[in-house]
Amino acid sequence: MTTLTIQQRPRVLFVDRNGWGADPELQRLGYMVTRDGSLVADKKTKWLHHHDVIVLPNDPTPNVYENLVECFLRGRRLQTIRPDLVPESLRGQTSDVPYNEMLFPMLDGGLVILEGRGYDRTGAHTRGHNTEGHGTSWAGNHQKYALAMSPWVEPFNVYATWRKAHGLPNLETQELHLNYSATACPGTNLVRVAPRFTYREEPYMDELEELKARFDSHNLWEHIVRPAVVGKFFQAIAAATDPRSPRLTAEDVAQLKHFIDKLQG
Ligand SMILES: [Zn+2]
Repeated sequence: MTTLTIQQRPRVLFVDRNGWGADPELQRLGYMVTRDGSLVADKKTKWLHHHDVIVLPNDPTPNVYENLVECFLRGRRLQTIRPDLVPESLRGQTSDVPYNEMLFPMLDGGLVILEGRGYDRTGAHTRGHNTEGHGTSWAGNHQKYALAMSPWVEPFNVYATWRKAHGLPNLETQELHLNYSATACPGTNLVRVAPRFTYREEPYMDELEELKARFDSHNLWEHIVRPAVVGKFFQAIAAATDPRSPRLTAEDVAQLKHFIDKLQG
């Protein structure tokens, strides 16, 4: 996967590190497993909002992004921008992106999400909360430049719901950096809309559970099916039950068919 459209309109688009051109010379930081041996992804119970406070000089719309190139350049910038967050053992290297994911409010009302360290790793965003906190950064300075964030609440909720269903099942709350440190982060714009950030009910969870039970009997779910095609299954079920959901592409259908054939064979 390089990019994944989670919703068509307004578009909610996820782009992984390959997709946005993360500098491969700069290693991906963070840990996937805690000291006690449990997966970091299972520890994450709270979404933690930040703003990245990066504003380009003379940008007339410092908190809104016009195109993917702007987002991608910023991803590269975030790989090196916080040398203060580099652990002692890596002094002299870069911090990599300190957040798990980066959020970009787009001019057309869409939301672009760039993979940072990754959803399943520790971050370096909130001292003392980098394991159980899924840290994301809203691009821009939301304290200094006023912007009504209402248009992006629903796209965000779509993404948060998707992310909870894809890798972070224990997420419960939506929280702000300023809940934990003496900081204005993520800024007034986001503080205003934060009470509306939420995870929606997944209308098709029952169907997915049924599929999961079937795959469990083949002991394939965790190792093959879940990482590879669970997103497509969600999409297929959504397309079948909700006419507003994006259709599967021919490629998606071929991929699903391939896996089903494999399971039956
Ligand atoms: Zn912050």
